[in-house]
Parts: sequence; C-alpha cells; structure tokens
Amino acid sequence: MRRPFIAGNWKLHKTTAEAVTLVKALEANLADVTDRDIVVAPVFTVLTSVSSALGDSNIAVAAQNCFPEMQGAYTGEVSPLLLKDAGCRYVIVGHSERRQLFGETDGFINRKLKAVADAGLTAVFCVGETLEEREQGRTFEVLEKQLRGGLENLLRDAMARVVVAYEPVWAIGTGKTASAAQAQQAHAFIRDLLSRLYDADLACRIRIVYGGSVKPDNVDGLLSQQDIDGALVGGASLKAEDFIRIVRFLPS
Ligand code: PEP
Repeated sequence: MRRPFIAGNWKLHKTTAEAVTLVKALEANLADVTDRDIVVAPVFTVLTSVSSALGDSNIAVAAQNCFPEMQGAYTGEVSPLLLKDAGCRYVIVGHSERRQLFGETDGFINRKLKAVADAGLTAVFCVGETLEEREQGRTFEVLEKQLRGGLENLLRDAMARVVVAYEPVWAIGTGKTASAAQAQQAHAFIRDLLSRLYDADLACRIRIVYGGSVKPDNVDGLLSQQDIDGALVGGASLKAEDFIRIVRFLPS
C-alpha cells in the first residue's frame, strides 16, 4: 500500500500573514488525518514563518524550487541545505512553469534532483506533456524523455524517496482536468518505465501523484485509480475549505 500524498503548490501567492492564517486553518481541520501525507509549498520568503507556525503538526513544508549547489557565488539562488534549514522536507523540482518560463532543461533538473537527495530532502519531480505533444500522440515519448533525463544516474536509494508528479501542462491552471482514465494510463506508463529504469519493487513502492486542475469535485474519481497515489494541487490549495476537502478525498 502506498501512502497517499497531497501537496498544495501556492505558486506566487500569499503574504506571510495570509500564509500563516491558511496553514493554521489547515492544521485545525486536518489534525486527525494520519493516513496520508499533507504538504504545503509556499514562496521562499514565508517558508520559515509557515514552518514555525506548523511546528510538529502533521502538515509538512515544501519549497517550490531550488538551485543545485549547496553554497557559493550564485546570487539570488537558494540551496537545498538552506531549504532544510528553513524547515522544508520536500522540494518541487521540474514544475512545468519552471521548464516553460525559465527554460529549465532535463539536465538541470537532474542536477537539482541529486542535490535535493544529497541534502536529505524529498523531491516532488514533475513531468508532463503539452497539449500539442498530446495531440501529436507523443505523450509517452515526452514522459520517457523527461524521466530518463531527469533521473540519469540518480541512485536507487535517492530515487526511492522521490515522489513523481504527472502534470499534463494543458491541465495546469486551465480548469481542464485529465480524465481519470487518461491520468491512470499515464501513471501506469510512468510506473512501468520506473520498473525498467530501476526495478519492479521500487516501481511498486514509489508514489506517483496527479496534478492539473484537481478540485474538490474531481479528486475522488482521480484518486480512485490504481496508480494515482495523490495530488499536486495549485489553485484549489489556496482556499482552506477546498484543500481540506481534497486532502479528505474519498477513494472508491
Ligand atoms: C500546479 O501548479 O502544479 C497545478 C497542478 O495547478 P492547478 O491545480 O491550478 O492546475
């Protein structure tokens, strides 16, 4: 049994006061949830305040990005070690907005995945095809390229802790969700590829979560699929009520 993993990616939203108010509401309403991992990913500047506000609650903190070196002359960057110091347990790596808006390549993402593992953190590694790639019938080819490139020479022990997020780019922030069947098909492909890249045992244990317009009204169907182990949630994670309902999804 894979433990469900539900993470909220807040993107570039929320001041310190707004972020602390939101996590306090989540903490108050989710304290009894012990059978799934709950994660929030605020902007860098509020990580410490959110971590302090959460203390040792059942909600963990993720960063949305990192630089693949621990320290040095890299003006404006933040390392996995500093994220750990700020209270993070997870780092989102390779989000499609980083790939598309900031030109991140599979090679750069590979360096980040290794640095995150070296710091003892867990990466939430995002992959996913664009609408054009899906319409051209290239979904699996794109996923395979991103996974092979991102995971190149990533040791089995490091990989065992990674959470993979399948996020079709056409479903992110658009209100369009992949159907449960479309998402399941991509997740099954990813799991099969991981079994070829590593082994069947690792592939069976690794969590593969879905992201792309997950909402209270579609989460139950998506997370009832055999290979969908959780959700990476953007817009709906900004509202306590919606995120609470998503965390409390009801698998069929
Ligand atoms: C995301 O940013 O990872 C995401 C899935 O966003 P949304 O839920 O808003 O589509």
